[in-house]
Amino acid sequence: MIVAFSNKEIQQVPKYYQSLRIVLRTDNDKEKHIKRMPRLMVEDVKYCKKIIQKHGPRLMDEHSNISMIIPSSYRLHNGKAIAHVCIAIYCRGKGIIPLNETFFPDTLECVDVDVREGYCTFGMKNDELLKSDEYHQNLRIGVEIGRSGGPIGTLGGFLHLSGNTYFLTCAHVVIPHQCLLDHYPDFKYLANRCKTCEDIDVFQPAMNRTSLGKVTDAVFQHSHPGITSVDAAIVCITDKARIPKDPYMTKQPSNTNKLRAAGIYI
Ligand SMILES: [Zn+2]
Repeated sequence: MIVAFSNKEIQQVPKYYQSLRIVLRTDNDKEKHIKRMPRLMVEDVKYCKKIIQKHGPRLMDEHSNISMIIPSSYRLHNGKAIAHVCIAIYCRGKGIIPLNETFFPDTLECVDVDVREGYCTFGMKNDELLKSDEYHQNLRIGVEIGRSGGPIGTLGGFLHLSGNTYFLTCAHVVIPHQCLLDHYPDFKYLANRCKTCEDIDVFQPAMNRTSLGKVTDAVFQHSHPGITSVDAAIVCITDKARIPKDPYMTKQPSNTNKLRAAGIYI
């Protein structure tokens, strides 16, 4: 059998080449989204991670179609997620064993293995992207942002709500320092809004002076032993021409140590 992978549908693919059957796998086959996933506990991740570190390199050597191996909180049963801590092996072309290779293991050190079809790609396209401090007509995760007279911060992620696009950043980046101090140890925007912070324009990059949007929500909560501190703000993108158009992140210089620190096993 010959398995062909494509990121788009191809019409009229021949069914056979000589005596070998041809199977086409496209990205459309993988349009499966699981909405509510069971939570994975820290201890489970630690336990599975050790096993993956021990067996992962060998499995990758022995099986050419593995794309990633991760701890997982669920198993897939007839397309449905069932809570069950396991090790998920993602491969290209599930159900097809490449020539001279064998089955995946059912378990690794008594932890069940769940085989899934899928692959991962980097969120960046380094050759094509602008740097984070350059002007981005369409905003991206990781770009430099700021307000007039404030520090430089980072765009953390987008959210869509009621037809608007918002992004997440730190409260200390977009709220004037004095306002945070005045409401020590809890600052909540809009409740604690004063004249200084009644209307905060946000720019990208930080030195740009054309507003892309306004702060709509912020929490700066700290110095409470026993609860997690929060430093977060939400910015509504009012300039519709700057709404993101693709899922890529901005260019971030990286090296092996940084990737390791981010949890990528190299
Ligand atoms: Zn204020």
